[in-house]
Amino acid sequence: TNFENLGLSQDLLKAIQQMGFESPSEVQQQAIPVLLQEETDLVALAQTGTGKTAAFGFPLIQQIDLGKKKTQGLILSPTRELCLQITNEIEKYSQFIGGMKTVAIYGGASISDQERQINRGAHIIVATPGRMKDMISRRMIDITEIDVCVLDEADEMLNMGFYEDIQDILKNTPKDRKTWLFSATMPKEVAQIAKDFMKTPQEITV
Ligand code: AMP
Repeated sequence: TNFENLGLSQDLLKAIQQMGFESPSEVQQQAIPVLLQEETDLVALAQTGTGKTAAFGFPLIQQIDLGKKKTQGLILSPTRELCLQITNEIEKYSQFIGGMKTVAIYGGASISDQERQINRGAHIIVATPGRMKDMISRRMIDITEIDVCVLDEADEMLNMGFYEDIQDILKNTPKDRKTWLFSATMPKEVAQIAKDFMKTPQEITV
């Protein structure tokens, strides 16, 4: 399989070529067509380094409506480092899509700077759970109209004690949102999140 027959837009294919990706990784081959074509929740068992960021990033970017200013996609990740890494990847993937904005939200940095960035508009927010919850409760961020929530490295987020924050954040999103969960392992806490917050997810393992 090559990237051309996964159903990706020309703008994404151009970025893929620019980044030098030659062929889709296993998790990309399995996840991208499903996430592009079906209104489905997804549980994907995938380690880091497998190309999982693009596996959720490409389909997420492709469904952003640039005509709408509201935040449409939320990616939760366990650490500031990962949050910045994902933001950087999403920006590379969307480099040929004029006007698409991605904002990183994480602790240990100025909340007012982050609020200013949000106020300038964010189609996609990449966030750590603690700061995200804080900014929602202070009404600095509105995620009441998102279409997709990605839980990246769900096992790590739960190991770090973010269960309640994730729960609070998801309660502020629409019921009909899609949830795409990526995790390296499937301990019972992750299975519980899937059970509590997802609708008959499709499952893939790489
Ligand atoms: P990830 O697992 O998402 O952290 O990706 C690991 C690294 O692989 C990142 O530096 C990506 O830019 C890169 N990458 C992702 N997909 C591909 C691909 N299909 N071909 C080559 N490199 C890739």
